Amino acid sequence: MPYAIAVHGGAGLTRRDSITPEREAACRIVLEQAIEAGSAVLAAGGDALDACVAAVTVLEDSPLFNAGRGAVYAADGTIQMDSSVMHGADRTAGGVAAVRGIKNPVKAANLVRTHTEHVLLVGPYAEAFAAEHGLEICDASYFHTDDRWSQLQMAKELGRTALDHALDDAMDRMPGDGKGTVGAVALDLHGHVAAATSTGGMTNKLPGRVGDSPLIGSGTYANDATCAVSATGDGEKFIRGVVASRVANLVELAGLSLADAADRVVHQELPVLDGTGGLIAIDADGRIAMPFNSGGMYRGFRDTEQRTEIHIW
Ligand code: ASP
Repeated sequence: MPYAIAVHGGAGLTRRDSITPEREAACRIVLEQAIEAGSAVLAAGGDALDACVAAVTVLEDSPLFNAGRGAVYAADGTIQMDSSVMHGADRTAGGVAAVRGIKNPVKAANLVRTHTEHVLLVGPYAEAFAAEHGLEICDASYFHTDDRWSQLQMAKELGRTALDHALDDAMDRMPGDGKGTVGAVALDLHGHVAAATSTGGMTNKLPGRVGDSPLIGSGTYANDATCAVSATGDGEKFIRGVVASRVANLVELAGLSLADAADRVVHQELPVLDGTGGLIAIDADGRIAMPFNSGGMYRGFRDTEQRTEIHIW
């Protein structure tokens, strides 16, 4: 079985004119670099989750996406990030939530998986854990981007959080865009699937707010028997819809195809909760689904036939 990988850089764009052609081109390049980084691991016979971590690291290192460098600001002017990973072979999982300063939260999430008996570490404890395990810690200036700071100021002026559609629309007319959570799902040459997700969350969120991205079953899920999923969108709705594992459950228990299960969750179930966003999913046969109910979702894949595609709209 050949390998395959899919990545996303967030859903939440509502309008084509919300990003400049230059920014769109730059985002496409970074998405392709993420696919290349993950594919290099997979082509060498590497592990599906290592490939996801490699791909997400590229996206975290780019200031263009809302994860790692370039993450959005919370209401108090801090940057607080969430991430999780899950392996489909044994359903081991790890996550970190509301962490500051960790250059690559996805690596911290994977260390929680491999080096603790736990699934989720939060705040300063997760930061200390990451530092103890040799992960790079950066000061606030590394994460700062002018676009994200402007978005926070606009959110504050409007007195809203970025969870509101009106604000989404207003913020989509700002430089950059209001969202951009990143994630990856992969199938390796050994037939295993995995998923990883990383985010700065929502602009102007309450400090300490945790979204779906670090929560197994909501923002991230992987099981070789069904599929691997990484989600992006209104985190609270994705938590309430238990979106990522819901797709897997529909495959397993309702007998839906991956495409039908993913479509049902994104186009039928999330709207009932007024949830906007999308997800990427892959199964052990390398089938890929990438539905979204927002105006756009940064996404791309390399499938089992080694076709590579990048799409936003
Ligand atoms: N799901 C993320 C969160 O709520 C945000 C996003 O996907 O853009 O934290």
